[in-house]
Amino acid sequence: MTDNHKFGFAALIGPPNAGKSTLLNQIVGQKISIISRRPQTTWHRILGITTTRDYQIAFVDTPGLHDNQHKHLNKLINRTAITSLADVDIILFMIDHRGWNEDLIRIFGHAKSRDVPVILIINKIDRLKDKSRLLPIMQESMQIHDFKEIVPLSALRLADKDGFLALVAGYLSNGPRGFPEGQITDHSDSFMAAELIREQIFIKLREELPYAITTEVVRFEVNSRDILCIDAIVWAGKNSQKSIIIGKDGKQLKEIGTHARRQIEKVFAHRVFLNLWVRVRKGSIDRKL
Ligand code: GDP
Ligand code: MG
Repeated sequence: MTDNHKFGFAALIGPPNAGKSTLLNQIVGQKISIISRRPQTTWHRILGITTTRDYQIAFVDTPGLHDNQHKHLNKLINRTAITSLADVDIILFMIDHRGWNEDLIRIFGHAKSRDVPVILIINKIDRLKDKSRLLPIMQESMQIHDFKEIVPLSALRLADKDGFLALVAGYLSNGPRGFPEGQITDHSDSFMAAELIREQIFIKLREELPYAITTEVVRFEVNSRDILCIDAIVWAGKNSQKSIIIGKDGKQLKEIGTHARRQIEKVFAHRVFLNLWVRVRKGSIDRKL
């Protein structure tokens, strides 16, 4: 690490389909964020981390920001424990080659924060045959907000990745790395799936269960038929809890699984196979002995 090493969070925000996940995957050089074939309807966030000697940037990829759902987004980011939108060092607001429209301006109004600088990314410029059409978009942008930078690019090709990253790093504060050098994500896809399952357990059994119930995703992969296969363990504290979660003839667990699967399908915009097991946590048995 160098003396004035920089570290911080950059939030990628914009409407569905702008190309946020594509850019993130290009930056970290691996597909860590599912690129949706249809705009996502719910919320999850993915962290993509890039590290050099001079800086470490943790990009927060958000689902498409629909109008009026900024609050919901903040809530979810908070819940997933890394940071809230107000805590990021820089916001990267992404639009595409078609420029602004009224909806976008309104969405931007929700996304911008008084204290956080914003860089505007105009994506998909590969679709612009006549590059001079960028000029009016840039001019209009400057009237909408005092953007720190306006960066036209193509996330699919990302010709000057290092230049782009250095530009973003320029807005971070001095500080040591927040993540180990080789880490490129916090695996929040499977974490999020585990959280969605846990959420269903609480919805179904709120009165009966203590908070000791945890969930763990042990398999999370897209199979050759393009189905997201998830195996998860529901950890109960003791046998009586296990029975409650499973329910009579396994009915309760089946319902939890069905509801959780639907939620996960929404979040990841993917077909899902979900297998759930209930186990009694060894730790609590050990403690008794
Ligand atoms: P998100 O909803 O903002 O995360 O958008 P995605 O990353 O899922 O991308 C939406 C669609 O736009 C996908 O089909 C991408 O392949 C496409 N896309 C993303 N970036 C570019 C780009 O620079 N040029 C072109 N032509 N298509 C892009
Ligand atoms: Mg996306």
